[in-house]
This record gives sequence, C-alpha cells and structure tokens, in this order.
Amino acid sequence: MVLHIPFDNSYARLPRSFYARQAPTRVAAPQLLGFNTALADELGLQGTDDPLLAAIFAGNHLPEGAEPLAQLYAGHQFGGFSPQLGDGRALLLGEVVDRNGLRRDIQLKGSGPTPFSRRGDGRAWLGPVLREYVVSEAMHALGIPTTRALAATATGEEVLREAPLPGAVLTRVAASHIRVGSFQVFAARGQTEELRQLYDHTRARHYPDCNTPAELLAAVCERQAQLVAQWLAVGFIHGVMNTDNCTLSGETLDYGPCAFLDLYHPDTVFSSIDRNGRYAYAAQADVIVWNMAQLASALLPLEEDPEAAVPEFTRIVHAMPDLLRGAWLTRFAAKLGISAPRPEDAALIGDLLALMQRGGSDFTNTFRALAEGGLQDQITDRDAARDWDTRWQARIAAEPEPEAVMRRANPAFIPRNHRIEQMIAAAVEGDLRPFHHLNAVLARPYDDQPEAAELRRPPLPDEVVPATFCG
Ligand code: AMP
Ligand code: MG
Ligand code: MG
Repeated sequence: MVLHIPFDNSYARLPRSFYARQAPTRVAAPQLLGFNTALADELGLQGTDDPLLAAIFAGNHLPEGAEPLAQLYAGHQFGGFSPQLGDGRALLLGEVVDRNGLRRDIQLKGSGPTPFSRRGDGRAWLGPVLREYVVSEAMHALGIPTTRALAATATGEEVLREAPLPGAVLTRVAASHIRVGSFQVFAARGQTEELRQLYDHTRARHYPDCNTPAELLAAVCERQAQLVAQWLAVGFIHGVMNTDNCTLSGETLDYGPCAFLDLYHPDTVFSSIDRNGRYAYAAQADVIVWNMAQLASALLPLEEDPEAAVPEFTRIVHAMPDLLRGAWLTRFAAKLGISAPRPEDAALIGDLLALMQRGGSDFTNTFRALAEGGLQDQITDRDAARDWDTRWQARIAAEPEPEAVMRRANPAFIPRNHRIEQMIAAAVEGDLRPFHHLNAVLARPYDDQPEAAELRRPPLPDEVVPATFCG
C-alpha cells in the first residue's frame, strides 16, 4: 500500500514571515532503523507497509499533502539572546489531527540545510537520533509530556563531527513546535502583528480556554511547573533548557545532551557545553522560572498598555516557585507512597535525599527499593537509614495503598546513560538489537520485568558516562 498521512496543515497557513519553505535534501541510501507502529496508528497513518517508508522518512520522497517548512524562532542560549535561530536541520512536514482529535506536528530532524542553518550542516548522526528515539519514548512511557519518535532512518551518508559518523534522520511528532523563542523573535523585532497571530494560533491550538495574554502565560507556567516536577521525580536532566527548547505545549523538547541521574546529587551536570551548571539537575526548577520570565516579556507587547500590565505578568511569574514546590511535593510524596501530602512531608523527602547524596545512592533504585524492600542496601549510613525508615513507616501507616502508589511513581527502568551509549556503539556496528531491546523494556518502566534486571543495574566504574554531547 501507499503511505497515507492525513495532513491538515495550519502552520503553513500562517504568514510567510513565520517560516521558510524548504524541501528536504536527498540522501544516498535510506534505511529504516525504527518505526513506531503504535504511534503511527494513533496518528491515523495508513499504508505503513509502503516500500517507500524509508525514503519518505529520510526525506527523499515527499508524502502527499506535506508542505515542508523550517520554522523561525529566536532564543536565549545559556542566558544570552540569539535574535535568530530557527530550524537549522529540521523541517515540519505538516500536521495531522490524530485519533483523539489532537493536532500533532510531524517533523523531520536531520533532513538537510535550511535558510536557518547558519554554520551547521543540517544533518544529524545516528547516535543522537537513536538517543532521542529511545529517551523520548521512555519519557512517554514514564507518563511525562514529551515529543515522540515516529521513525529513525539511516541516510547511508557520513556526517562529519569529530570524526566521520553515520548519518540519520529522526521523525519527531509533537503537539506543536511552538517555543518561547517563537514569541521572542517577533517581540524582539517589534513585529506585533505577527506576535498577535502566533498568540491566536497558540491559544486555538493549546489553550482554547485562555482569553488574555496573562491567562495564557499563567497556563504555560502551570504546565511547565508540572513538567519540571515530573523531570525531577525521575531524575531527568534536560541539559539544554534554552528558551528555544522550551515549548508552549508543555512537552519536553530537544533530547540533545539529556541524561538521567544514576547517583543522586542535586548539582549533577552531563552536558559538555554546560560548563557553569546552569542546567544542572536541581537548577531546572529555577531556570524554568527564568524562561517563563522571558515568555512574559515576549507577551507584553500584546497588551494595549504594556507598562500597566507589568505588575500582573510579574505576579504570575513570581507565583511559579510555589507552583513548583507544590508539584514537587506531590510527585516526591507519591514516591514515598503518600497520596495526600502535607507540608511537613517535604522534610521527610529532603532527609532521604540528603542520605542518598551523602552516601552516593542510585536515585532510581533507592526509590524503587521503598516498595520492593531493601532500602538498607541502597543507603551507606545504615543507622541513619533505619531511623529514617522508622519515621517513614509511621507516616505511611495510615495510607490506604502506599505500595501501589510507589510502584506507579518509582520506575524500575530508566534509559541509563551507559545503556544508551552501548546501544549507540552497537548500532554504529550495525547491531540494532540493543536499540530494540531498550525500546521494548522501557515501554513498561513500572513493571518488574525480572528477565531484564540487567538494565536496572547502575553503571560499573568503566561504564560511567561522564559527559553528553549535543550531536
Ligand atoms: P539546539 O542546541 O539543539 O537547541 O540547537 C540550537 C540551534 O542550532 C537550532 O536553531 C538548531 O536548528 C541549530 N542546529 C543544531 N545543529 C545543527 C546542524 N547540524 N545544522 C544546522 N543547524 C543546527
Ligand atoms: Mg533545540
Ligand atoms: Mg538539539
């Protein structure tokens, strides 16, 4: 059958100043490495047995109804404003309205240069493509809002990084690719008319109940606070929380240098370019507030009297730390089996984290041990662990079903960095088994899956991945 994607493109209807129309660049030898049939079904795709599938998702063959374009945006990168970024190696093919009535973007990433490529080659190599495929799908299975992976395709071409590496294209699906930076570009240029059109588009698409820019800001702050609390609760470090990677939809976007904690330490950083720890694990709760302040500034010109709106916008941004604390408490209390948290639970949680930090405990396995037993094995200071356990037992005594709550909040499986690196190394050698195995196990992260116990093991000293790269 011929692949049918029921495109219904709304971004392409926006003015030309929002994007550059651009076709993907042909590649030598497309080969499908991964295809997400469940997601394809959810999107209403038909004919996924099409022999042209690889050619389509490598960008060699445009599916009927696609209107490929590179989106314009700006962004604060590590705190400094870049007035023009835009899709330098990605193309929005178009949108579909999925089986649940939700509009979703279908985007190729690594599909060749665009007018926004600056000095980049427009390409991606196999490593980051498979990393994003595995990690974004794992995040979805963990219950965290995220862009999805529909396909990974090898190009049969080499990409020049530190060395020549095999090229690949990721097909990414998102609620939208509208970023804080999408607003910033028009605000910075004083293009208030475009700013208003983007605001209307975003409202219609994600926030139909919001009637003013302030309401939209508050709604995005709420979603982002929830999102970051969910990241913290699974030990996820995004790694590059620039405003161009911060979505209006509240989905996690851009899996470049991301990584999960093995040992718990709040200052953990993996990204090789994050030299000052701006995006360290615990810093994420502060940075998201900073990012929302940038969104607030970009929305201000929509107000008839921006000066007069400043106090209200400020109040909304300043309310975020409380939102974050509340969301954090709910998520971490659930990790202890507490379904109705009280303010004083923060101390109980904090004391466990302090014990983990002091002794170098594995974040995921320590929390999972609360439901499975064996907490003592995870904490070096046995006496302190016993004291904490006594306090905790007393607290959850009256909880109706602490174990079930914990098993839903504490995954057994996360995409550990060393497994991702091993998977990529195998794939470069042509062995995709670890890629498929990781996907299969991480699709059910809260299930015990004893046959996959090896994937729960923290890295051995020689397996530790000290740094990650954007690719
Ligand atoms: P990121 O750090 O991944 O959020 O990317 C920041 C900006 O750099 C975005 O505008 C990307 O499109 C662009 N970019 C990243 N890698 C490449 C590349 N290989 N070729 C062209 N543009 C790129
Ligand atoms: Mg990005
Ligand atoms: Mg990136």
